[in-house]
Amino acid sequence: MVTNSRLYSIVFNKCPRCHQGDFFVTNSAFSLRFDQMHDHCPHCQENFVPEPGFYWGSMFVSYAFYTAFILLTFFVLVQGFNLYLDYYLMGLLPALVLLTPYFFRMARRTWLTIFISPNPKKLPTKSDAGHLMVR
Ligand SMILES: [Zn+2]
Repeated sequence: MVTNSRLYSIVFNKCPRCHQGDFFVTNSAFSLRFDQMHDHCPHCQENFVPEPGFYWGSMFVSYAFYTAFILLTFFVLVQGFNLYLDYYLMGLLPALVLLTPYFFRMARRTWLTIFISPNPKKLPTKSDAGHLMVR
């Protein structure tokens, strides 16, 4: 996969700007700290929280992921493989609960990636350096 694409940073938990620093603290969606993310990129110091409440918009991205998952699995399993609709619905709820942390993380990375264009050569600026001194 091309490492300077937006899709790379979304799928592999990387900064949407430099594609080197991690976005979330852990790389696994299925750990206890799955929701903890860095405030700034550990590599290029890109701000991951541009404004308060920024990630409210990621709810809509998450909704789109859930909808796409439900439609895709419905057409493949029920329409394609003739699985009984009752069995499908019984398996759907646990699957959605198990996938919640995964969709949560994907939605946040997608939402931020929409607003930040990739620049793999980005280095910390003077204002970022001031931020580093505060920390
Ligand atoms: Zn970065």
